[in-house]
Amino acid sequence: MLLIDGNTKIYGIVADPIAQVRTPQAMNEVMANRGSGAVFVPFHVRAGDLPTFVAGLKTWRNLPGFTLTTPHKESTLALCDRLGPMAKISGSVNAVRKTSDGAWEGETFDGLGFVAGLKSQSLDPAGASIYIQGAGGAAKAIVAALADAGAARIAVANRSEKKALALVDQINAAYPGKCILGSACDVSTADIVVNGTSLGLRDSDPLPIDVEKLKPGQVAADVIMMPDTTSFLRAAEANGCRIHRGIHMLRGQVEEIADFLGF
Ligand code: NDP
Repeated sequence: MLLIDGNTKIYGIVADPIAQVRTPQAMNEVMANRGSGAVFVPFHVRAGDLPTFVAGLKTWRNLPGFTLTTPHKESTLALCDRLGPMAKISGSVNAVRKTSDGAWEGETFDGLGFVAGLKSQSLDPAGASIYIQGAGGAAKAIVAALADAGAARIAVANRSEKKALALVDQINAAYPGKCILGSACDVSTADIVVNGTSLGLRDSDPLPIDVEKLKPGQVAADVIMMPDTTSFLRAAEANGCRIHRGIHMLRGQVEEIADFLGF
C-alpha cells in the first residue's frame, strides 16, 4: 500500500464532468510501476473557475503538474507561460508542468496518443484518408498529429463550422494542403472515421456521425473511453466497420505524459 506522508507529491486531472475520466487509474498504475511515491487525483473544476484554480496551483509546492480534459484544453493555452511544439501547432494543451523557474509549461499528447493507439492495433495513418468529427481540444491535437504522421487527407467537421474552418486553416499553415472541411467531403470515402467530440459520454447523446453512410472496410474510431464501446462504435460495427476504442488513445500517451510531468 502507498504510504502518503509529508513528502508525497500530488498530480491530477482537471475536468468537468469528471466521473468518466480513466486517467487517475492509468497514471497511478504508471506511478506504482515507476516507484515514484506520488499520487494522481481527480480535480472537478468548472470552466469559469479554471483561471483561479490554475493560479492557485502555482502556490502548491508539492504539485509539479497536472493534466486536463474537456472542457479545459483550449482555455488552458492562455494560462501557460510556455508551450511545447504540438501545443503551438494544435492550439490545445492536455498536460502542464511547473518549470524550475516556477513557470507553467503546456504541451499536448492527445494526438501522439491517438496515433500510437492506432499503430498499436496495426493501423498506420500514413497515406490514409481521415474524416474527423470535432474541433475541440482533443480533435485539434489529433488532427495535428495525423498530419505529422503523414495522413494523405484530413477532413474536419464540427457542430460549429467556424471552429472547423479555423482548425483547417491552422493545420494547413503548418502542413500545406492536408486539411479540408468535412462538408466538402463524403464520409464514406475515408479510410478512418473518427469521433473526436464528447458525444457518446451519455446514453441520451445523438450519434456524432451518420453511420448509415459508413461501409465495410472502413475503420471507425472513438475518443470516448466511458463507455468502453460507444453507441457510435456499436452502430459502425453493425455496418461492417472495424472499430477502434478510445482507451487505445489513453494507453498511447500515459508514459509520455509521465515523462513530461516527471513522475
Ligand atoms: P472539448 O470540450 O474541447 O470539445 C468538445 C467537442 O465536442 C467540440 O468539437 C464540440 O463541438 C463537440 N460537441 C459537444 N457537444 C456536442 C453536441 N451536442 N453536438 C455536436 N457536437 C458537440 O472537449 P475535448 O476535445 O477536450 O474532449 C472531447 C472528448 O474526448 C471528451 O469526451 C473526452 O473524454 C475525450 N478524450 C479522450 C481521450 C482519450 O485518451 N481517449 C483524451 C482526451 C479526451 P462545438 O465546437 O460545436 O462545441
